[in-house]
This record gives sequence, C-alpha cells and structure tokens, in this order.
Amino acid sequence: MNKTLILVVEDDLAIRNLITTTLKTHDYKFLTAQNGSEAIMEASSHNPDIILLDLGLPDIDGVEVIKQIRSWSNTPIIVISARSEDTDKIEALDNGADDYLTKPFSVEELLARLRVTTRRLAMMQTDIFANQSVFINGKLKVDYVAGCAYLCDDELHLTPTEYKLLCLLCKNVGRVLTYTYITENVWGSNWNNDLASLRVFMATLRKKLESLPDSPQYIQTHIGVGYRMLRVE
Ligand code: CA
Repeated sequence: MNKTLILVVEDDLAIRNLITTTLKTHDYKFLTAQNGSEAIMEASSHNPDIILLDLGLPDIDGVEVIKQIRSWSNTPIIVISARSEDTDKIEALDNGADDYLTKPFSVEELLARLRVTTRRLAMMQTDIFANQSVFINGKLKVDYVAGCAYLCDDELHLTPTEYKLLCLLCKNVGRVLTYTYITENVWGSNWNNDLASLRVFMATLRKKLESLPDSPQYIQTHIGVGYRMLRVE
C-alpha cells in the first residue's frame, strides 16, 4: 500500500478524473480541490505529502497559491501548466514549486513525476532534514564541511563556481531549478542573468561529473527552464 497522500488541485473535471483514476490505480491516497482557496484549506488541514497544482484556477492565481502554501509548508508542489503558460511555469518554480507537468500529459509522465518527487521526499526526510554534512547520490559524494566532491571516491577537481553550482543542485535534489534561481544563488542578484556563462559552467561541471555527458545521469536539462539534480539509485 502506497501511503503517500496527494492533493490534486484542478478545476477541469476531465483532467482531475484522469489524475485521480491514475492515483487510485497505483494505490496513492488523494484529496481534491477545485480552486485556489479550497487548495489552501485542504493543504493546511490535511498536510498532504505532495501537491499537484493546476496554475490556471478560477479564483486565485496558481502562483499566489504556491506563495501562500510556501509561507508555512515545504510540501513538494508539482505544477500543471498549459503550453501557453510557459512564463507562469517559470514563475511558479521561482516561487517554490518543485517540478512541472505540461498539458497535455500522459499517465506515464504523471507517474514519473510522482516517482521523482517521492524520492525527493524520502531524501528530505533523511539527508537534508538530518542536516547531514555529507551528500551521497549514486557514485557522487559531496562533503560540505571539507568543501570537496568525489566521484567513485576520486576527488573531482572543480573550480569554486563549479563547486557552488554542484552544491546548489545537490541541496535541491529532485527539484527543477530555474536559470534565475541558479544565477542568483551562485553569483548573487547583481549578476546579470548571463545564460551563456551559466551554460559554459554547467558544461564543464558535467564533463567532470558525468561519464557520458551526452546522456547525463545526474544533471537533467530542462530546455528554456533550468536544471535538476536527479536522485540516482
Ligand atoms: Ca485550469
């Protein structure tokens, strides 16, 4: 029995039914909400493990719902956006959403996102909340105290910027980080959003980290959005 409780926030009945039927089939527990105010109420009274949130709601803007929930909760939020809402999706991630699904999505995509987020939840309950000084993911190990990263126990020779980038991704494992979030956290907000430089640093980091840089195992690219560190078994 899957004990994960999911709050499904979607005003479109057909999509809500598709999601809840999928959840039922895969033994997830769920609650539903049809608008933003219901979502906030359900989230505060039932404390779900994961929130699936449609951004286009009839009453409150989805991004506003995220801001309110984030003021008291770290519950992972996966936003559901229409293709025309690309900027909304990025704004949602910048305001604390963890991941996104773009409509129309398949049942497989939905389940894949839930698996990634469930792994992130498991990590949040262990590594991050236990405030461990060492991060381990597959063959990658980052010793935050020593300021060193290792792959298969061999030290990675990273520049200070590459190391900062790697730590940011590790500390947010499972979350999609936007370009803006990454540049602000690595270089500070004064740094002009220089995507070309970020791509160069990411490419050199990957060359050192990934055995097959063309099919990366650790750092996933989200074209037009940002990057994510994946949990590797
Ligand atoms: Ca909608």
